[in-house]
Amino acid sequence: MSIIKIILTILFSLLISDTFAQTLPLELNNFQTVTSHKQLSSIVKELDSKSEIINVEEIGKSVEGREIFAVKFSKDGFNDKSKLKVLFFAQQHGNEQSGKEGALILAKELIKNENKFLFDRIDFALIPQVNPDGSELNKRRNSNGLDLNRNHLLIEEPEVQAVHNFFAKYNFDVTLDVHEYYPYSEEWKEFGYYKRADEQLGILTNPNISEKIIKYSKEKVLPFISEWLHSRNFSFNEYVVGGPPNIERLRHSTVDINDGRQSFGMLNTLSFILEGKNGKDYYVENIKHRSEAQSQAMLALLFFCYKNYDEINKLIEHERKEILSDNSPVVVQMDHFNDGSKFNLPVTSVSDEKDTVIQVDNYNPLVKKLLEIPQPDAYLVPKASSLSVGFMNNHKIFYHDQTPELGNVEIYNITKIDSIELEGEKFGNPELSIVEKKITDIDAEKYYIVPLNQPKRKILVLAFEPQSMLGLRNYEKFKKLLQAGFDYPIFRYIKD
Ligand SMILES: [Zn+2]
Repeated sequence: MSIIKIILTILFSLLISDTFAQTLPLELNNFQTVTSHKQLSSIVKELDSKSEIINVEEIGKSVEGREIFAVKFSKDGFNDKSKLKVLFFAQQHGNEQSGKEGALILAKELIKNENKFLFDRIDFALIPQVNPDGSELNKRRNSNGLDLNRNHLLIEEPEVQAVHNFFAKYNFDVTLDVHEYYPYSEEWKEFGYYKRADEQLGILTNPNISEKIIKYSKEKVLPFISEWLHSRNFSFNEYVVGGPPNIERLRHSTVDINDGRQSFGMLNTLSFILEGKNGKDYYVENIKHRSEAQSQAMLALLFFCYKNYDEINKLIEHERKEILSDNSPVVVQMDHFNDGSKFNLPVTSVSDEKDTVIQVDNYNPLVKKLLEIPQPDAYLVPKASSLSVGFMNNHKIFYHDQTPELGNVEIYNITKIDSIELEGEKFGNPELSIVEKKITDIDAEKYYIVPLNQPKRKILVLAFEPQSMLGLRNYEKFKKLLQAGFDYPIFRYIKD
């Protein structure tokens, strides 16, 4: 009787299951060639037609005109406001193939009946490939020769615009940016060990982001993902860059807001970066294992979101409301320091390929605030500065030209530009004096007013302040903003 019952259950589940049974291209070619954009395009279209919970949206096109797809999983058309909105996006870097392959494995996994309960609480969107042009050539950058994961402050490349416009459409609560890291450099070879982790997960580190979100990521999310992967025989550590330890410090990557992790984090999103281990050939070596590891890490985060959906919903909702009234000073200069702790780094020995763990003393997990700037009530941006106005438009920043009748303007006069080194990079550090004027004493109609009570307020401060290590003026095309002997063209407006 019970056997009959089991057989009936299996038959029944097969009947109601989505009938997507296509073998993925990577398996079909015996893991010798990765999935092309054309193949990916036909897979997502088939998923759309065969699965009731899937809806595919074309969110933009690459420089060369290839479609960028978001595969949306939802039981009610992505319209239920109470659902947790989760977005994963992969392969901003075209030579990190396992992100895309892992995303496709994940999609196949998610339409199985046993996983559909996830969408009782989650509306999930998966962008398997942000950079199709780079992927076709197995190259990091897009067809304009730009690193897309350094373009999230300017948001100028069509691929990055596609991701940000899509994010804004649904205001996702959780985001994950999927990458690969390459451990096989000459320096590490000489050191005698390679980093071993199949997967590294990076949490937010910029000190302008909600402390509560950072703490939650550290204490709740990281242990869950670690446990999930270890119990499935994948090695894992929290994302670290730098090293070898005797040459360079280890830190949890950059505080810069121009990447997929911190840019969404700055809006108080529960945001992460995932780094799978690449192959020695930077292409298909070990691609089966790499793709499976990526898909498992992604699945782990989805399960975490399902389990803790109420807690995450409340946290994000609360922290996003906070932003609108948070006029606390913004940290514009910062760096990484040691806090007395050591890092246990899983490695593989170069000589005998044995796995071991080394304890790293040269470890700088602590981000210290080195310079904070009080927020003005608004910035005044010259209407004639097409670059700065373009920046605001790319971000969909709110601005207007109703000049207030009262209040003061602070104008920075750049007296001198020194050099400063932070995060291992040198940049110009201006010495400045502040000239204060009544708003009625300047040619105010030549300026747009950019009020700061909006979600991107801290991004605006970081972008506009001349002393900001992450500011616009550090980008080549914005270089003219900052010139010794001149006034900085963007003014600060203070009420009263
Ligand atoms: Zn990458």
